[in-house]
Amino acid sequence: MEYIVSQKIKDRLASLLAVPSVAEGFELIEQDQVRCIQEQVELTLIEAPTFHEENRAAVFRQKFEELGLANVHIDRGGNVVGTLKGTGNGPTVLVEGHLDTVFPFGSVKSVEEKEGYLYAPGIGDDTRALAMLLSVIRGIQGAEVRHTGDIIFVGTTREEGMGSLGGMKAFLDDNEGQIDASISIDGANIAEITYEATGFKTYEVNFYGIGGHAYMAFGTMANPLHAAGRAVAKIAALKVAKDPRTTFCVSNFHAGNDAGVHAIPPKATIKFNFRSNSAELLDDLNDRIFAAIQEACDEETACWGKDTITWDSKIYCDVPAGTQDVHAPIVEGVYSVIEHLGIEPVINRGGSTNCNMAIGKRIPAICIGRGYYPKGTKVDTLVHNLGEKYPIEGAYKGVQETYLMALLCAGVEGVPSIIEK
Ligand SMILES: [Zn+2]
Repeated sequence: MEYIVSQKIKDRLASLLAVPSVAEGFELIEQDQVRCIQEQVELTLIEAPTFHEENRAAVFRQKFEELGLANVHIDRGGNVVGTLKGTGNGPTVLVEGHLDTVFPFGSVKSVEEKEGYLYAPGIGDDTRALAMLLSVIRGIQGAEVRHTGDIIFVGTTREEGMGSLGGMKAFLDDNEGQIDASISIDGANIAEITYEATGFKTYEVNFYGIGGHAYMAFGTMANPLHAAGRAVAKIAALKVAKDPRTTFCVSNFHAGNDAGVHAIPPKATIKFNFRSNSAELLDDLNDRIFAAIQEACDEETACWGKDTITWDSKIYCDVPAGTQDVHAPIVEGVYSVIEHLGIEPVINRGGSTNCNMAIGKRIPAICIGRGYYPKGTKVDTLVHNLGEKYPIEGAYKGVQETYLMALLCAGVEGVPSIIEK
């Protein structure tokens, strides 16, 4: 289906581009390409596995200080925060990229340049975004753009894996009601727009019984491993919606040990995660999975009628789901910015990035990309892989995209924000 941007948003972007300082900043960003790539390399070499972002955060903070941002600090969540103050009371805009990578210390030996690409674990995801923030700031400052709203730049911690978007969550919790629009940079391709949040939950569930000899105790007690098996079978048979996309996966199953190969184990553990683009369907699936677990325990208990299988659970990840109107001003805004860059926009369905946390709090939010891929080139999807690479040519276009979006949302003197405060 064709996506049509409203005249109002088109006009707003045209007015923004007609402001001389905005046009100047746009040019400055292209000229800043080499420096931006250098900083991307510099930051990539400072490794930052999830939960261990301190070294990179310290350097990133120093860069914010050198740029003269206001209120530079590391917050309770370990996030690096700095602000470009607005001239009036336009909306407050958050622009963020995450500090952490999925690679353990020792993964990055060097950054290699080969055939137009930079190679290193984490070179794109999401170190490039950090370098982009710095280049956006230089563009706004260099051209003295008079934006009316504050623009808060944040290098967030714990986006990946078990970090479960923890840095972004802490930042938004601490700034409840203060953020009017949120721009995350965490996609591979600058053509892509993510405006929906795929919610997900990851749990560990433990099943408990008495445990005993496989032969001697048979019939005198229930088997927690059998209860876990029944639970997995019930979960495996669940039916979920195709749209909004909803998924589930039991990913770990563990009980017993080699010494106890002839024992009824006293404990069994499963781990599972499930996802949905709909908050309602996510809650519904949560209820159905835990009902299945209870039923499995009841059946195993009833089978022997002696002891009771019990269970408990631990939640590892809890990320909210949600969607926005595909024609929300922030979505139309970024769509027209990407078109202005001469790129054909692609609107994604669903996503699991820091943007989820903002959408979960009903803040107008989008996630945009890092790399420029001219039409016809293959988009590299090898993130979270030691062979990760990033295309150099035209990389500044992603910075320009972020810059124009930050200004469209914050508003510039004479050009009101597209966001309603
Ligand atoms: Zn990422």
